[in-house]
Amino acid sequence: MLKGIGASDGIGIGRVMIVVEQSLDYIPKEVTDIDAELQRYRDAVDKFCGNTMEQAENIRKSTGEKEAEILLGHIAIIRDPFMGGEIENLIKAHQCAEASVEQICKMFIDMFSATGDDLTMQRATDVKDIRDGLLSILLGIEEVKISDAPAGTVLVAKEVTPSMTAGINKDNIVGIITETGSQTSHSAILARALEIPAVLSVPNAVSSLSSGEQVIVDGKSGDVITAPSEEQIEEYTAKREAFLRERRELESLRGKKTLSASGEEYELFCNIGTPKDATKAVEADGEGVGLFRTEFLFMDRNSLPTEDEQFEAYKQASLILKGKPLIIRTLDIGGDKDIPYLGLAKEENPFMGFRAIRYCLKNRDMFKSQIKAILRASAFGDIRIMFPLITAIEELRQGKELVEEAKNDLRASGIEFDENIQVGVMTETAASGVIADLLAKEADFFSIGTNDLTGYTMAADRGNGDVSYLYSPFQPSVLRMIRRIIKNARENNIPVGMCGEAAANPMMIPLLISFGLTEFSVSAPSVLRVRKNISKWTKAEADAVAEKVMAMTTEAEITEYLNTVV
Ligand code: PEP
Ligand code: MG
Repeated sequence: MLKGIGASDGIGIGRVMIVVEQSLDYIPKEVTDIDAELQRYRDAVDKFCGNTMEQAENIRKSTGEKEAEILLGHIAIIRDPFMGGEIENLIKAHQCAEASVEQICKMFIDMFSATGDDLTMQRATDVKDIRDGLLSILLGIEEVKISDAPAGTVLVAKEVTPSMTAGINKDNIVGIITETGSQTSHSAILARALEIPAVLSVPNAVSSLSSGEQVIVDGKSGDVITAPSEEQIEEYTAKREAFLRERRELESLRGKKTLSASGEEYELFCNIGTPKDATKAVEADGEGVGLFRTEFLFMDRNSLPTEDEQFEAYKQASLILKGKPLIIRTLDIGGDKDIPYLGLAKEENPFMGFRAIRYCLKNRDMFKSQIKAILRASAFGDIRIMFPLITAIEELRQGKELVEEAKNDLRASGIEFDENIQVGVMTETAASGVIADLLAKEADFFSIGTNDLTGYTMAADRGNGDVSYLYSPFQPSVLRMIRRIIKNARENNIPVGMCGEAAANPMMIPLLISFGLTEFSVSAPSVLRVRKNISKWTKAEADAVAEKVMAMTTEAEITEYLNTVV
């Protein structure tokens, strides 16, 4: 058995086709006719862009707009005046087009690879793809025709590049195995979009496997089973069928309401980090956004985003949601989220320190510009404001005062906004759980952040392995906090959601139904599964489970029992 990273769920059983990389070797030459060489290079770029457009068109039809954009990005990169200019400068210095392309691409590949950041490293793969495409054209090498692969093919390659993926016929390719890549690499994104099981980063896959041999690809566990036995084939065929059945079942819930088995209706929202993620939320059938983590707008840059930039981002997300609710959490920095240009002091105890709402209330100009941006965007959709890390009622009051001030400023300038914008509290600290009765009288809604609530209730750092045995939302203390927060929200007639990871946990769902949660906010890929899990429970069954659980005394007892009922 070979082992890699499961990057696209599902089971593929088929025969290996090794995609051998063509040799792109050449002998570098000194050019004398510079104009002719520049022309040769420019013709190659035109041909490359033409091919890429064609591939993008194919992938747009077979897969979708988003996936086509990855390929169109290649055109933007090679047409970038800086990169193209550098290549042409080398040609003008008498270097042949092949060597010039290779040298400049290498510079970009090295630069992107060195960052260690997943997304930027992706750029390196894009540039490799461009380099290989251009070199193939310059050297007159025909591309491998993946589109000719027979039915039941498992593609094996060092790396599946976006341009390669464009040739995939998803009826014939049943699995993908590569030697590189991660969950977030473009090959993974494309494989998931094509619904082809994929295992990436399998060491020496190309040399360990041979064309024609039978393999099983398990895109969830990351296992590649070589020379499978009859029993294994039977076992995995059954798994494959179960997987496809479940996928069909989940798909049948698309566009449906989120209902318990006894008919209570819930809101099922998504958590997002960028305006573009709003598209994922809509595609995943989310009924809105329960948590927009705005800190991503502040990260990966050297200065604060302006009010206008923020306004555009919030407005964009809201327009994508077409009137569905969008809960925007104000800046939640500090703790594990640093923003270097803010120059936050190193703290002994960052999780208990100067962070989130605490930092914002002391940096009023910055905070007010975020609130104004949110208010301005509220003219374009159903936007709500949420404050993170509330521990005392004054923080909510001061935050609301600032909202009022921002409204006055906008009124004075004649700028439109939603006069009745709701202002809610993210209940994610032990203190907010304990004073939920007080907060519920002054907040328009609650959203329970179990990721932090668990940590702050248990005094156990969410990233510390030594105390991870304590870090569980099924601890009796955390469950009591959750129950208390929901109860107080309900008694004060305000909606109460959950945007922490626990909202998608099938074992938590009956408890949340019983406690009276009104909204679940989960990651986009979990939406349909959560809808299905909610539909399994009647309120009475959920109450019976919750009653038993709340009488239990240890986390182990609780999870052992819940495991038997889901
Ligand atoms: C939480 O704390 O549960 C939460 C959803 O927020 P974050 O993970 O961004 O801290
Ligand atoms: Mg949090």
